[in-house]
Amino acid sequence: MIIVLKPQATPEQVENLKGMIQEKKLNPVPFEGEERIVIHVLGDTREEYSKAWKALDFVENVVPILRPYKLSSKEHHALKTIVRVGDVKFGDTEFVVIAGPCSVESEEQIMRAANIIKGMGLKIMRASAFKPRTSPYSFQGLGIEGLKLLKQVREETGIMVETEIMDVRDVPIAADHVDILRVGARNMQNFDLLKEVGKVDCPVILKRGMSATVKEFIMAAEYILYNGNKNVILCERGIRTFETAYRNTLDICAVALLKQETHLPVIVDPSHAAGGRELVFPLSKAAIAAGADGLLVEMHPEPEKAFSDGDQSLYPEQLARLLKDVKRVCAAVDRSFG
Ligand code: PEP
Ligand code: MN
Repeated sequence: MIIVLKPQATPEQVENLKGMIQEKKLNPVPFEGEERIVIHVLGDTREEYSKAWKALDFVENVVPILRPYKLSSKEHHALKTIVRVGDVKFGDTEFVVIAGPCSVESEEQIMRAANIIKGMGLKIMRASAFKPRTSPYSFQGLGIEGLKLLKQVREETGIMVETEIMDVRDVPIAADHVDILRVGARNMQNFDLLKEVGKVDCPVILKRGMSATVKEFIMAAEYILYNGNKNVILCERGIRTFETAYRNTLDICAVALLKQETHLPVIVDPSHAAGGRELVFPLSKAAIAAGADGLLVEMHPEPEKAFSDGDQSLYPEQLARLLKDVKRVCAAVDRSFG
């Protein structure tokens, strides 16, 4: 429920109202606009409460939020959220491309990747230090050592870094070493992790679970927002379907729907959807056309030597070609890039 206050409501009245809300075991979250304050009431709100609040002379209106995802929905926040990472803005008119290897493998590999990305004018690199692998025998990532290498990349090249976080215990140190945290598909409904990334001051890319509905996906974002972190970027990365010809089915419909339903930036990972590098090109173009705000793409300096996801990682020259395609499609849909 949203309580819209009259512009002349005094701070004392606002405090009294917050107390009344808390008495009902509900959580009042005030948002101060240019002209007036709006209080979001989170929890199990009831119709009879709304009548009592509406009767207060400093209350303009009480509006129910019908969607289950109260904070992510456009009902709550009609203006789009712009997530700022350094001087990069997600969700604004500029399209954003994050590129980089699947994993941090060594100092030499990650520095090479960062310099390639920098040379192409990109500002944010992806690379995972913690790896969620299907097999315990596969490369598990460099862990904390990998985080340190990412920090070194930032210090030496100025490139900002994005990495996956899997364990609640690693959230503070990861938030201290990188510019964006990523919750991967396998952890989309790890609610303790969502709560923890909700408490840090670091933007979060939340990936859609491989079998999650759009509603479950938005509800996962809701956990992060509810715990205080407003800088959430949604990422569609393909879902499991009956189709086995490619790794996952990129749900373009979800991209369009997420933009329609939520105020959050939406990006697309064509690499984990495709599972092979050639499909990354058409999927990226489709994502831009459907309204995505950015891409998260895998690129490795030498894909055949990659410790993980080499088949879907672009060669550096392919990334350069992709960026040209991105620029052209962006121009066609009135977005700027590069
Ligand atoms: C990744 O981006 O490195 C990754 C593991 O992707 P996902 O969580 O989408 O499978
Ligand atoms: Mn990968």
